[in-house]
Amino acid sequence: MQRDSIPDLADIELMTAVAEKSALALRLLRDIARDYAPVVFANSLGAEDMVLTDMIWREGLDIGIFSLDTGRLPAETYALMAAAERRYGRRLEVFSPRHELVQEFVAGHGINGFYDSVEARKACCQARKIEPLQRALAGKQAWITGLRAAQSPTRDKLKTVAFDHANNLVKISPLADWSEREVWVYLRANDVPYNALHDRNYPSIGCAPCTRAIQPGEDVRAGRWWWETPETKECGLHLVDGKLTRIATSKVGAGDTAEAA
Ligand code: SF4
Repeated sequence: MQRDSIPDLADIELMTAVAEKSALALRLLRDIARDYAPVVFANSLGAEDMVLTDMIWREGLDIGIFSLDTGRLPAETYALMAAAERRYGRRLEVFSPRHELVQEFVAGHGINGFYDSVEARKACCQARKIEPLQRALAGKQAWITGLRAAQSPTRDKLKTVAFDHANNLVKISPLADWSEREVWVYLRANDVPYNALHDRNYPSIGCAPCTRAIQPGEDVRAGRWWWETPETKECGLHLVDGKLTRIATSKVGAGDTAEAA
């Protein structure tokens, strides 16, 4: 969200709605920690994910938090990781890609080979994002994401609790019914750290070479893999309604879980 469109905290109605939704989300997180252990939160470090980070760490919930370091993240994202650790006095669990897979990709496609074809880009995402995500989720009963239904037409089918058939575990999205304004009210009201790129027209932030700022009127995901056509863009990290179908990124909103990429 651009700085000039950040909502006013004097809006009582909005503040009340956020307080009520925050209480519900927190109750859900407590229930999840009790009923689905071991459970992890895949923290992409997007705005929504910082809301959940604040809830989990401030409340001391028994929910692990991890992020994926693709090795190509913007400096601002690494700065946010450090700021969050300082703020909450906790250490983020960071999963890095297997070096042999990255080396294999670079040897075959070149250091920036992901620009050359959709297949090459998917291969890079597989090595740097998807394989580490699968490792992070291994042995867990459930995972938590910061997905919101309002982020796109596709995500309007997003359920707060669903079964993730691809990863064979329960997937929970406590902010499924939150609006973007509500997310930013929460962040501002609780002084939660967020990625500085959000203030520079980056609503959705992934790897540095694959993310650009958007122009007024552009879709929030227009800055992701901008050189590809909407039809070929894929996130590869999330499924809709448990189907083993990759989601076109043109239909996927900001804050893709595990999209610390
Ligand atoms: S977003 Fe770009 S750099 Fe990051 S893993 Fe995917 S292709 Fe590679």
